[in-house]
Amino acid sequence: DSVFTNVVRAPEDPILGVTVAYNKDPSPVKLNLGVGAYRTEEGKPLVLNVVRQAEKLLVNDRSRVKEYLPIVGLADFNKLSAKLILGADSPAILGNLVTTVQCLSGTGSLRVGAEFLARHYYQRTIYIPNPTWGNHGKIFTLAGLTVKTYRYYDPVTRGLNFQGVLEDLGSAPSGAIVLLHACAHNPTGVDPTREQWEQIRRMIRSKSLLPFFDSAYQGFASGSLDEDAQSVRMFVADGGECFIAQSYAKNMGLYGERVGALSIVCRTADVATRVESQLKLVIRPMYSNPPIHGASIVSTILKDRNLYQEWTLELKAMADRIITMRKQLFDALRARETPGDWSHIIKQIGMFTFTGLNTKQVTFMTTEYHIYMTSDGRISMAGLSSRTVPHLADAIHASVT
Ligand code: PMP
Repeated sequence: DSVFTNVVRAPEDPILGVTVAYNKDPSPVKLNLGVGAYRTEEGKPLVLNVVRQAEKLLVNDRSRVKEYLPIVGLADFNKLSAKLILGADSPAILGNLVTTVQCLSGTGSLRVGAEFLARHYYQRTIYIPNPTWGNHGKIFTLAGLTVKTYRYYDPVTRGLNFQGVLEDLGSAPSGAIVLLHACAHNPTGVDPTREQWEQIRRMIRSKSLLPFFDSAYQGFASGSLDEDAQSVRMFVADGGECFIAQSYAKNMGLYGERVGALSIVCRTADVATRVESQLKLVIRPMYSNPPIHGASIVSTILKDRNLYQEWTLELKAMADRIITMRKQLFDALRARETPGDWSHIIKQIGMFTFTGLNTKQVTFMTTEYHIYMTSDGRISMAGLSSRTVPHLADAIHASVT
């Protein structure tokens, strides 16, 4: 008998499990709108042209070796990543107030930041939006933080519950950590306006809360890298402390390369160096040091003027295709005279639409139309194409009539 006889079968991950189910479906019309991965109009994964070019340069450079990176990763990559999110002329960078460590994509950056906070920060409670990306709660809980939620989404307006955000942050204990989506909130696609961000910032600073930004979609929401970094930059401009987890999964299409960065903005350069020394103690026993290939691709692109320029165009093209899919889906539902107000499809931003469909309707769409999505009614717009919009519109129409 196995010593593991008592191990019970765990449920599939609520997001990645959607793909598992999709893969098992033999239907030729099946459509996977679960996982947030960009697809072309032909429904194919996309490797950016700049990524191919950078990889060619790396392969042809015979001086490159496969030695270990330092614990904190590739120095160039870290500097360039901080610049990308904070802005090239950021006073925080110029004043050496920022420590940046290369981590395993967005998830790994969140986890390293969380582990650091659990060890070195006095207030162990983190507030995450309700709803939020399904992994947030688990990451912070396993790191040893206490997870609470703040109201974020209003199902009636399918928009932001701004009053709820301010009230819940206003009654959080002083010093509590607050997780914020830098842009393109997942799963709702609902972001605060600039004025609302400013009020959220004031509330956070007045209560001495600690902002922790998750930036998984810079450039993907609006098509502009600077525009999508505005929220973060507002919080850094006021001189206060701030955590930022960056992912290059979506905006460079480097999903499986696991490239990301954790930046901690401190009040003094001296604190920043001490914080970095402790981050190394967090990382070393977890995975020792990060992988070299993906970070080399990113730094090759970010430091070359032409590649960088070409990247911004490719990024804009991905963002624009997603925005076009929103428009097409909205028009298709209007053409079918599908009951209900579907304007949130074009108002929401980023990779996902939070349709408002309930679990029963989602199940119906999966069993009758072979359309796969998370049970909360979130669909990945990046997985749609002009060819598949009519099928999705038919399914939504049937599910609500
Ligand atoms: N945060 C959010 C909000 C996300 O949507 C994702 C990706 N789905 C991530 C973090 C992390 O992704 P990765 O670890 O692949 O960078």
